[in-house]
Amino acid sequence: MNKPNSAPDNVRFCTRCGAAMQAKLVGDKMRKVCPQCGFIHFTDPKVGVGVLVVNEAGEVLLVRRTMRPEIGRWSLPAGYLDQGEEPTVTAVREVQEETGLHVTIEGLLDVYHNPPEQGGASIFILYRGRVVGGELKAGDDADAAAFFRLDALPDVAFASTQAAIAALRKP
Ligand SMILES: [Zn+2]
Repeated sequence: MNKPNSAPDNVRFCTRCGAAMQAKLVGDKMRKVCPQCGFIHFTDPKVGVGVLVVNEAGEVLLVRRTMRPEIGRWSLPAGYLDQGEEPTVTAVREVQEETGLHVTIEGLLDVYHNPPEQGGASIFILYRGRVVGGELKAGDDADAAAFFRLDALPDVAFASTQAAIAALRKP
C-alpha cells in the first residue's frame, strides 16, 4: 500500500502568495510550507456522499459508472462533496442526476474509509434514502441505473459499496 505523501512534489507554489513552497516538518509530518507567508498545504481527504435506496421489493438502486475510477462497474449513486455544501443536499442531487429519481434522506447509514489505492473518495458518507418521485433514467456520470435483487447483483465497485450491501444482507 502506498503511504499517502503529505508533501506532494506537484505542490510547488503557494496558492496564497505565489512563492516557491518548501518541504518542512509540521507536527509529525512533512508538509509543503510557504517561506514567505507561512501558508501550509494540507492534503485533505476527498469526501464522497452516497445514498442507499432500497425499494419495496427489497432491491437496491445501483448505477454503472462512466468515470474513473472503476469505470464500467456498478456503485451506489454518489458524488464528491463540494466546498461549503451540506452533505444531504449533495446526496439528493447526485441521486437525481445519476438516476432521475427524487429521494428524501431518511438517515445516516455509516461513514466509510476507502483505502487510498482504490481511488475515489477516501471518506464516504452513506445515507439511507427513499424514492418520492421522478423516473428511473441514467444520467451524468452513469450510463445505466437499475434496481437489483441482493442475490443477483452485478459487478460492484468500491469497498464501501460492498460493505453497505453486505450489511443489508444480514438479517
Ligand atoms: Zn505564500
